[in-house]
Amino acid sequence: MRKKLIAGNWKMNLDFNEAMTLIAELCEAVDGNLDQKDVLIFPPALYTRHAHEFLRNASSGIQLGVQDVAATTDGAFTGEVSASMAKVAGADYALVGHSERRSYFHEDGAVLLEKTKRSLEHGLNVVFCCGEVLEDRKSGQHFDVVERQLHEVLSGLNNSEWDQITIAYEPVWAIGTGETATPEQAQEMHAFIRNWVKEQQGDARAAVVRILYGGSMKPDNAAALLQQPDVDGGLIGGASLKADQFTAIISA
Ligand code: PEP
Repeated sequence: MRKKLIAGNWKMNLDFNEAMTLIAELCEAVDGNLDQKDVLIFPPALYTRHAHEFLRNASSGIQLGVQDVAATTDGAFTGEVSASMAKVAGADYALVGHSERRSYFHEDGAVLLEKTKRSLEHGLNVVFCCGEVLEDRKSGQHFDVVERQLHEVLSGLNNSEWDQITIAYEPVWAIGTGETATPEQAQEMHAFIRNWVKEQQGDARAAVVRILYGGSMKPDNAAALLQQPDVDGGLIGGASLKADQFTAIISA
């Protein structure tokens, strides 16, 4: 039985005080009660150390991640934050392959593979995002696109590395648009992804790997999506910035 994971991607939002207020509100709402679902937040990287200390002192059980890591270990890469720096600051997870990184920062499969490897090497779990754009879906290419994205980054991983992998299916046409995949569309793709994992790594891995849905998940559509048998949680953007909305999704 896979425990559901509700993850919030804050992107480049909230000033420091707003971020810490939101963390405090989430700690109060969750109140250590994470029997039903795991909760994970991805604040801006500069807040990682403070967020980690607050979450730890509150014994909240809420986990913490960074939205990006460098593809390289260390060196002359101005502005980059390495996986080991993120880990030392208190991150448990790294987000890799978000569609905004793919499109605005031109991150391709080769770069995402390196980011995944650096994260795994330094003890970070990876939420690996994949998903098609609207034209791919309209032309019936969505399964091929997602399979290629999975293959580029995850196909070479060994069994113990898979322990650190969560997959997030995020149809790009549903991210930040208010348009959500129907529960049936989400389930169809999640089953496809799980079957791909089964072909790569066998039944046991396919049975435990968590596959999140992302794309305009809100309190009013979360329950229907989360009830699908292969939807193991959500990766939430906009609705993760408001404590009441995010906690409503956690409770859905
Ligand atoms: C996201 O950015 O990963 C996301 C799913 O955003 P939103 O929930 O706002 O569509």
